[in-house]
Amino acid sequence: MFSYRHAFHAGSHADILKHLILIHLVEYLQEKPGAITIIDTHAGAGIYNLKDGFAIVSNEADCGIYRLKKFAQDRAESSNQFDESIQRYLECIEMENPDNELNFYPGSPFILARLLRPQDRLKLFELHPKEIDILRHNMGQLKQVKQIDIYAEDSFTRLKGLLPPPSRRGLVLIDPSYEDKQDYRYLESTVEEALQRFATGCYAIWYPIISRRESAALPERMKKIANSHARSWLNAELRVENTPGERRLQASGMFIINPPWTLEKYLEKALPVLVRALGQNSGAQFLLKSFEV
Ligand code: SAM
Repeated sequence: MFSYRHAFHAGSHADILKHLILIHLVEYLQEKPGAITIIDTHAGAGIYNLKDGFAIVSNEADCGIYRLKKFAQDRAESSNQFDESIQRYLECIEMENPDNELNFYPGSPFILARLLRPQDRLKLFELHPKEIDILRHNMGQLKQVKQIDIYAEDSFTRLKGLLPPPSRRGLVLIDPSYEDKQDYRYLESTVEEALQRFATGCYAIWYPIISRRESAALPERMKKIANSHARSWLNAELRVENTPGERRLQASGMFIINPPWTLEKYLEKALPVLVRALGQNSGAQFLLKSFEV
């Protein structure tokens, strides 16, 4: 426990899939003026320096955000083409890099904080004793004290206490590190309890696609829970390569419960772009499935 530091993975293809979907979910909810509450159950450090520390050990951003940015720039320069579906995501990343050089990658807390309107609230959970201090420091730069609460607590046990939010409109991002095999089990009970308390909330669950029984079973387990609560769901996966025996993460997925009706159409456009931009061999592909009640 506690060996996971998200800085090793900041700006990876998995972050891109997760954050691109997250932005779409928030902006959909914000189409109505009513306040929303966003809960990020596994916050990490908030924002990452891609040119320093853990990030340069793994350089996962090279095959992630750097590759995507170059793809977008090349398409704009060579054929004057802009892939609209990834523009908004790139804008959110560029906001932290105003001098046009990509030095920082915003994690979910920073991306979410920047999207907040005055009436919205953000709740962040982080359990790692070092990460929580960095998160507090980083979020302190944003001067949004009244809108953001940070909890140094186990979100798997504490999430239910925040549901339903007073606004009755909300989004919960569940992005565990799956460092502990038990996370798969905790995730299930947390989602089950959360739906009992706040059935209409939008839940976005990230998962790695790795050769582990629990990981392979996760989407089916989530579908079962969503179906038992008569909730719509959407499942999107992005594989950037298929290289047997390679230990790096080659694919990940997002499972959304109560997705907005716009999400599937949006991902039908965005996922092929991500495969083209981030795909490393012919095994690159996406999956998109949904079920509407
Ligand atoms: N959501 C972040 C993002 O997209 O930028 C990345 C989060 S990272 C995958 C997972 C984080 O959850 C780690 O920083 C880890 O310390 C933290 N964590 C692990 N178990 C936790 C728990 N039970 N409650 C709260 N945080 C936890």
